[in-house]
Amino acid sequence: MSQKVHPEFTYLSEFEKFLCRINQEQSFIPASMCKEYIGIFSEDGKLFEWDVKEFDPHILGITYPIPHEKENDYRGKIVSHNHPSGERFTFRDIVTWAYLEQAKLRVVTWNNSGCYFHSIKPYKGKWPTKEDILREYEKMGIIDNEGIIRPLLKPDDYIERLAAQELFVYKKEHFPDL
Ligand SMILES: [Zn+2]
Repeated sequence: MSQKVHPEFTYLSEFEKFLCRINQEQSFIPASMCKEYIGIFSEDGKLFEWDVKEFDPHILGITYPIPHEKENDYRGKIVSHNHPSGERFTFRDIVTWAYLEQAKLRVVTWNNSGCYFHSIKPYKGKWPTKEDILREYEKMGIIDNEGIIRPLLKPDDYIERLAAQELFVYKKEHFPDL
């Protein structure tokens, strides 16, 4: 990531308000034209780096995977990004968060009732392994016989179910007027 400053945000809270507005604006355009922003923040919410990516049909989700040489930039940090689709955490989001032992992973979504900030952090200071995460996806029946995850089969409360299995602590905040 080369872009280090942005006129509209220096802190996590400013970045996420910006993402909320971006999601709202993008709700009127096709998914193929949407952009995903990602920011890396210190524990006290100060911006290190940010980036923006265009939709890539070859990659499910826009922001991940993180290039190998960038992994250490993300390790242990607070990472936030927007999902223009309105989906919460993807399988890849959760696996990457655990693998890089990020303090928090956050997603900003938007719908007609306003803006939502979603956050996961380690349960009792521990991150799950990829196998732990896969096992819970299998239990929910959203992995087919070939081991492929079927996002459309996900129950609406899949994040709450993963949290109930202590894979992470999940928090959701709603801002009707952002
Ligand atoms: Zn994501």
